[in-house]
Amino acid sequence: MKENELMLTSLLDCERIDLAVKARELTPEQERQFRQMKARRAQGEPVQYIIGKTDFMGIALVVDRRALIPRPETEILVELAVSNGKALRQDGKLNVLDLGTGSGNIAIAMAENISHAQITAVDVSAEALTLAKMNAKTRGVHGRIRFIGEDMSVYLKATSAEARKFNIIISNPPYIPTEELARLPADVRNEPRTALDGGHDGLHFYREILKYAYTVLSPDGLLALEIGDGQRNSIEKIFAQYPQYQRVEFFKDYVQTDRIVMARLSETF
Ligand code: GLN
Repeated sequence: MKENELMLTSLLDCERIDLAVKARELTPEQERQFRQMKARRAQGEPVQYIIGKTDFMGIALVVDRRALIPRPETEILVELAVSNGKALRQDGKLNVLDLGTGSGNIAIAMAENISHAQITAVDVSAEALTLAKMNAKTRGVHGRIRFIGEDMSVYLKATSAEARKFNIIISNPPYIPTEELARLPADVRNEPRTALDGGHDGLHFYREILKYAYTVLSPDGLLALEIGDGQRNSIEKIFAQYPQYQRVEFFKDYVQTDRIVMARLSETF
């Protein structure tokens, strides 16, 4: 849908087809609201924040300034994790760890697509977690998601002393180099900085995740991460420092950019 159509269907609480078929007249109040929406858009606010919702893998989610707007590329990440991880632990519970859950999109989609999945969703932002919890509740999967308000490195470090209990670790971590943040388009600059800032070279969270993931993954576990533009080579180098990982595979997004990396643990580890 075009942006104006998204705003109008949201305002009038109708389907796109109704806009054309019913040729509705806006009431003066609706007209005022529509003008207000267009003014916010003109200021660079993303349309998803203005209408307060988005779709992720067919799941309607509430989104606002508290969290990153889920992107279509992230659907590829979840689809790969679902198709490769679903077969694990079919006779029991599949433990999934979602690092940096934001609006809860990945955690909720994993819960909805893998019926025996039990999710732990971590985010450093208390505001984002409130939003994620609300989304999980609306979708009826909150009973299978445990929410933890902690920095992902802190959580991983603390958990590494426990049993290797996760069958899947999935994450779309912040991956924009700090100094590029100011050059991002206005809509992206409306999103929370903590959801975007990947440190000086954008790779901070990959270093942290790879440092600890093998200590918390089950021996047959799967690691699935989204990566930023042009980061493949650097991320391959980080993987090369850890013989614990094997079968490191990259997958492209809709515009043929390397966007996802998946790895398994080596059998000898
Ligand atoms: N998990 C959320 C998403 O994929 C948030 C990611 C983030 O904040 N970096 O959209």
